[in-house]
Amino acid sequence: MNYDRTYNFSAGPAMMPEAVLEEIAAEVLNYRGSGMSVMEMSHRSKEFQQIRDEAEADLRKLMNIPDNYKVLFVQGGGTVQFAMVAMNLMKNGLGCYVETGAWSKKAIAEAKKFGEVKIVASSKDKNFSYVPDCSDLDIPENADYVYICENETINGTTYFKLPNTKGKPLVTDQSSMFLSRPCNVADYGLIWAGVQKNVGPAGMAVVIIREDLIRDDLPSSVPTYMSYKTHADADSLYNTPNCWAIYCCGKVFKYLLAQGGLEAMNRRNEEKAAILYDFLDQSKFFTGAVRKQDRSLMNVPFVTPSKEQDAAVVAASKAAGFDNLKGHKSVGGLRASIYNAMPREGVEALVDFLKKYESEQN
Ligand SMILES: *Cc1c(COP(=O)(O)O)cnc(C)c1O
Repeated sequence: MNYDRTYNFSAGPAMMPEAVLEEIAAEVLNYRGSGMSVMEMSHRSKEFQQIRDEAEADLRKLMNIPDNYKVLFVQGGGTVQFAMVAMNLMKNGLGCYVETGAWSKKAIAEAKKFGEVKIVASSKDKNFSYVPDCSDLDIPENADYVYICENETINGTTYFKLPNTKGKPLVTDQSSMFLSRPCNVADYGLIWAGVQKNVGPAGMAVVIIREDLIRDDLPSSVPTYMSYKTHADADSLYNTPNCWAIYCCGKVFKYLLAQGGLEAMNRRNEEKAAILYDFLDQSKFFTGAVRKQDRSLMNVPFVTPSKEQDAAVVAASKAAGFDNLKGHKSVGGLRASIYNAMPREGVEALVDFLKKYESEQN
């Protein structure tokens, strides 16, 4: 079917696989003979229980999640996790944070409301265009955890080597890289991801937490909903969850399994990103914004020689049928987000467009 869909390079909410959207469309008026859509369905129904259970089971399969980790579906998207991490994990009141850009800065600001924050490494000196060396961080003995934003969506950096946390639990924000490549869950204490970047609709985060980090001795001032234990004990059904997002994410998990899992996604994502980076590396008009070895496979920021020309390219790209190539307002320039669901043809078409644009400059 030709739905006249655009190549949407948005950082999030972002593209979902067309095959998944088709399946959802086919079920939207009557989910498998239930006589209703998932949007209208009780979260206590046996149909929804099955949707939830399969979503968790498929995610466990995709990521090979060990049995001593809980999978939680929590409302509030990414931003709520900035607070939840600090509220739940700051037992001694000290979190160590690596500052690599806009999203780690937000996590740091939020954590400061709940305890002490130590910035153990930063790439602020070069405008967050790289990932700092994290092989020998100064982690105090009483630190509760070490926190990273593993893929900085706005700045376009990613970790190819995890920090040495000196035995402390590693907490990661994987929002803009979740399920884009294999991930050894046992390397982390807690993984969280807002799902609207690389998986499904906005408004929910997946949290994968090692069981020993789930506390039952939280201060009584911590709101019930903000305790990981609340969600772990109730299989994420303490209250009415984001049923629609769980359903859509579950479809994407099944789709990824059918596509060959995370190894296959990684291969595709490397190929797609290489098409764009190879072009940027040889271009005399466009320049990538990030140090080569730290470049994200998901979010590719780049610039032209001037702000005016950045804006002109964005306008021309829109007219040519490419959406959302404008860089984030805080950094300017351009940014192509090429998550799992962006087809290779979309990246090829974008590079053809940029090439032609460049050739038309004098
Ligand atoms: C988008 C994003 C967030 C915030 O997600 P919301 O759901 O908008 O709160 C957090 N971290 C990263 C890395 C993101 O890309």
